[in-house]
Amino acid sequence: MNTLAIDIGGTKFSLALFAGEEMVLRESRQTDRAGGPRSMLSQIEGIISAWKQEHPIHRCGIGFGGPVDFGQQKITLSTHVEGWAQNPLVETVRQIAGAPVVVDNDANVGALGEGIYGAGIGTRPLFYMTLSTGIGGGILTEYGIYRGADWYAGEIGHLTIRPGGPECLCGAYGCFERLCCGLWLERDHGKPAKELIEDPAFVDRYVVDLSLGLKAAIMILNPMRIVIGGGISKAGDKLFVPLRAELRKQITGWSRARIDVVPATLADDSVLYGALALAKETYPL
Ligand SMILES: [Zn+2]
Repeated sequence: MNTLAIDIGGTKFSLALFAGEEMVLRESRQTDRAGGPRSMLSQIEGIISAWKQEHPIHRCGIGFGGPVDFGQQKITLSTHVEGWAQNPLVETVRQIAGAPVVVDNDANVGALGEGIYGAGIGTRPLFYMTLSTGIGGGILTEYGIYRGADWYAGEIGHLTIRPGGPECLCGAYGCFERLCCGLWLERDHGKPAKELIEDPAFVDRYVVDLSLGLKAAIMILNPMRIVIGGGISKAGDKLFVPLRAELRKQITGWSRARIDVVPATLADDSVLYGALALAKETYPL
């Protein structure tokens, strides 16, 4: 059985074709911001049409970089990938692929990917956070993804961690995402996050804000493990060792909640594997 997986993010989009659970094809391209959804969908159509010649597609899962109304299977809005609000993504891909399609926001899908195939195998509840262009969160329990009453659960990026702090794209001030995501780190400091993380003095300040956000996840969920994915998580021990130390400092003294925070192991493929898992659970064949 072949499953098509699509990851639509703020700076790039990726497609993969899985035969069973094995990834046999993969393609990743930069997002053409000016071209909007139309340009991306025509590229997606080109890739799928070529793949379909040799690999029939039986089902498809999509992780989208923004809030998704999971019940209605619609894109609610997108702060990082402009022009997608109310776009009939599911219908369009269903027509191109000729197979049933399911979509969820990329952090939920990434949680599923890491929870089933990556760093979060067997650890429930699992909190997964993407730390890249933006910040997203996904909660995976022993019953599956916890999506909340209106599909907004896990949106840790817009938690206020610095009241009166700088204005976020969402209109609020001092959001976790505003202070810690790749997009704003680069705008605020004039260097990409990858370079900033090389400076231990920067990391010492950065982990304070990062811990202010993650503390909320630990105090509310007491997760068995936190997996952090996205570009910035690739920094490894340079980031994770000081982060764990700072979290230990910030977590309320009497709390014995564990601090098990690790980088994602599927690297750039957490969402693709999660899209595979989501399609499998939605359309068991
Ligand atoms: Zn915000």
